Amino acid sequence: MKKLRLATLWLDGCSGCHMSLLDMDERLLDLAASIDFVYSPLVDVKTFPETVDVTCIEGAVSSAEDEHKLRTVRERTALLIALGDCAVTGNVPAMRNSCGIGQVMTTVYCKREALNPQIPATGLPTLHDQALPLHSFVKVDLFIPGCPPSADTLFSALTALIEGRAADLRLNTRFGA
Ligand code: SF4
Repeated sequence: MKKLRLATLWLDGCSGCHMSLLDMDERLLDLAASIDFVYSPLVDVKTFPETVDVTCIEGAVSSAEDEHKLRTVRERTALLIALGDCAVTGNVPAMRNSCGIGQVMTTVYCKREALNPQIPATGLPTLHDQALPLHSFVKVDLFIPGCPPSADTLFSALTALIEGRAADLRLNTRFGA
């Protein structure tokens, strides 16, 4: 049987959703028989492949770099999954949306910094005005809420995809922890 080409991407998130992937523990070995991890923070591949069957994306879109990555991945992915509440709704990264970038920068680099407070002139990401969920930019094929989604939920979803079934997540997903 042809293996599923799976990628994962980490945008503006805390990595907790990727930790849930690792929390599948020994079930990862079961999945490895049917899945090739072709790109992920969890594997040592530097370039996103030209064609991928499924990509799970953690995190909101908060910067020009995030948006560029997301659009590239969408073009190269057959089925795109919003993984976790940040990708689905904006969640924690979107808490800055009501403040404006100026206030966020001042708070982070000036008000909370005792030694030489100043906003760096270089090296910062080009932040969008708002941190937004994936579907604000591209078509999303499957939403898996949770902060983070449980390992059981992810295993169930990936198993369904391997078997060519639609993942029915109604009973084992919810927003928040
Ligand atoms: S959904 Fe929760 S666990 Fe996942 S990246 Fe966002 S804050 Fe972290």
